[in-house]
Amino acid sequence: MLPYGRQSISEDDIQAVVDVLRGDWLTTGPAVAAFEARLGEISGGHRAVTATSGTAALHMAYAAAGISSGDTVISTPMTFVATTAMASVLGAKIVFADVEEDTALIDPDAVETLIDERTKVIAAVDYAGHPADYDRLTASAARVGALVLDDAAHSIGSSYRGRPVGDLADLTTFSFFPTKNLTTGEGGALVAKDPRIAQRAHEFHFIGLVRDADRFEITTEGPWHQEVHEFGFNYRLDDIACALGIAQLARLDAFKRRRAEITRRYDEALAQVDGVRTPIQRDDVDVIRHLYPVRILEGRRRQVFDRMRADGIGVQVNYMPVYWHPVYADAGYLRGMCPNAEMFYQEELSLPIHPELTDAQVDQVVDSLTRALR
Ligand SMILES: *Cc1c(COP(=O)(O)O)cnc(C)c1O
Repeated sequence: MLPYGRQSISEDDIQAVVDVLRGDWLTTGPAVAAFEARLGEISGGHRAVTATSGTAALHMAYAAAGISSGDTVISTPMTFVATTAMASVLGAKIVFADVEEDTALIDPDAVETLIDERTKVIAAVDYAGHPADYDRLTASAARVGALVLDDAAHSIGSSYRGRPVGDLADLTTFSFFPTKNLTTGEGGALVAKDPRIAQRAHEFHFIGLVRDADRFEITTEGPWHQEVHEFGFNYRLDDIACALGIAQLARLDAFKRRRAEITRRYDEALAQVDGVRTPIQRDDVDVIRHLYPVRILEGRRRQVFDRMRADGIGVQVNYMPVYWHPVYADAGYLRGMCPNAEMFYQEELSLPIHPELTDAQVDQVVDSLTRALR
């Protein structure tokens, strides 16, 4: 099966991991610090904190933003469930804003009609790698004192109006799962513009331990002392994974170039195919194309999915609207709430795209899709 996404691991990547295994630090050593420093640099110079997954990074982001029960988080239904689940576990009420019909990104007009004084975070997702409209989301958030979060699991390497992902929102989270733009196996990271929020996220991912003597409430102990003010988790990413992350980050530009070549090849080949809509891109963004989501029209998505899978093409569907999950449906979220997201879901099909996909394989996918539509 030709997978819709997969990792690319070079000999240098392997050597970086082996070097850590031969060294002194397996965790919380120099590779963690170096990976966090590099992630911060490419994110506009803000502090980055690594995490054991993108989901953990989202949990850290909402906790560091101070989300608790009674707060509202406005988010998009066109995402992986973790985007909102990590706010729900902290007791937030999720308000789903519909997406734009063409990009499937959170619609700033919908956010504007839903936002109020209880809104603490607007959580956008850069679906398929395309940044959301952060200037408008930031303006809405500023009116009520909310923070903007960018779930950038798809978009590390993209930019919006000349600014890189990581610099677009108050909080940004990344995932380094193998299908994403770069990988550490499992892994993720958070970037925060406010250093106090970054420090709070750091402590949350480090069991809540406070190690800064200036902030100690107990001052009678010795040099070994550390203390907990707020409960945290152990979400630390280790040096083995971070060494892989550093090596992968050095290849991100090359990954981006290959993803762009594949995108052009699909765009050209599918432009003339009836019954298919190819993904669009706004003029003010530079996109690392994480997913290549086509729309299969006239109710034929299931037929095309089944036929392509039978052909050995690992097409995927991203995503069922989040509020359709029973955990949200049981809480009273009704189908029909976000019609654009639901229509998008009915038609969406993710074609394979990853750096090691060859031109011949792209042509094979196009051929399979064309035949599946007959
Ligand atoms: C992959 C993904 C996540 C979760 O990341 P994990 O590393 O798998 O926990 C969150 N949000 C989106 C949009 C994702 O694609």
